[in-house]
Amino acid sequence: MEKRNQVRLLSFCTFLSVARCSNKIFYSSTNRVFFPTRRYSFGLPRKCRHNLSLPSHRFCFSPIASVRIGHGFDLHRLEPGLPLIVGGITLDHDRGSVGHSDGDVIFHSVVDAILGGLGLPDIGQLFSDKEPRWKGVASKVFMEEARKLMKQKGYDIANLDITVILERPKLASHNNAICENICELLKLSRDKVNLKAKTHEQVDSLGQNLSIACHAFVLLQPDSTLMKEEESVAVQNALSTDFIEKLYQRVVQRSQTDPSLSWTSRLFSQGRASIAKKLGEEAVETVIAGLENDPHQLVKESADLLYHLCVYWAFCKITPQAVYEELNRRESQSGIEEKASRSSKLK
Ligand SMILES: [Zn+2]
Repeated sequence: MEKRNQVRLLSFCTFLSVARCSNKIFYSSTNRVFFPTRRYSFGLPRKCRHNLSLPSHRFCFSPIASVRIGHGFDLHRLEPGLPLIVGGITLDHDRGSVGHSDGDVIFHSVVDAILGGLGLPDIGQLFSDKEPRWKGVASKVFMEEARKLMKQKGYDIANLDITVILERPKLASHNNAICENICELLKLSRDKVNLKAKTHEQVDSLGQNLSIACHAFVLLQPDSTLMKEEESVAVQNALSTDFIEKLYQRVVQRSQTDPSLSWTSRLFSQGRASIAKKLGEEAVETVIAGLENDPHQLVKESADLLYHLCVYWAFCKITPQAVYEELNRRESQSGIEEKASRSSKLK
């Protein structure tokens, strides 16, 4: 390979390792291997690009809408004779928030931030108090529902920053307990949640202890557990195809040696019909091992079959790559569509 191309290949490999490490930016796509030849080819000539798409490089990194931000705001009137519940903690106070549920401003604004980040309607529309199942429920239920929606959409919380505005009482001594409640409900580690409290400098209803308000900002990122699953699928795909690739390369290499020294080379010297016959025999033996319910023999016959298939491919000048491409193409359509497209070609 030309030196210039080697440098390009090196930068591309560095790019791939960076992309693999920074899974916040790129992630592999389920079951489907997309190779970013167009967008990230780094000007490699077509021939080198082909080499790069050998199975070991067949991880795919499709840029996705990586992070989303959400903002939630809530305000409740404070009136005497009601409990003041904030972040799941009942505060000792002479008044509490007026609301259809428990009036928890922190939970409500956090839920709205998550819903906002997901691009969903707000808490009032999603959990309407007109719907009997939501009427009068503890606000932690909305938190759990918001988390479910977030997970369904494939997101996780990167961090959550909350600011409560109230004149009295002081929140400082409850700060940690509130954060721990949030962490438990949203299944987050403690370092992801931050809570601040401010007064309103005795101005307006907030400053006169007639209301309580809260702002919450959330950063949503692709669900890391999903990404790990996808990555392991990509790794498994690469491993499974790697074996075929290695086997094929070995067959090609041995076919060029002296027939007296290599079994593969001897097969090649016997010609197409002989190789085809051998492949057919191995296929039948594989079928028989399965019919005889002999798993151990089935594994051995399958290995023989794959070897003879590689010999046949190499003889007929077909690369495993061509077969992978066909498999990839089929993966993008359903089995029924694929069968239909083949039978229509036969007509
Ligand atoms: Zn509210």
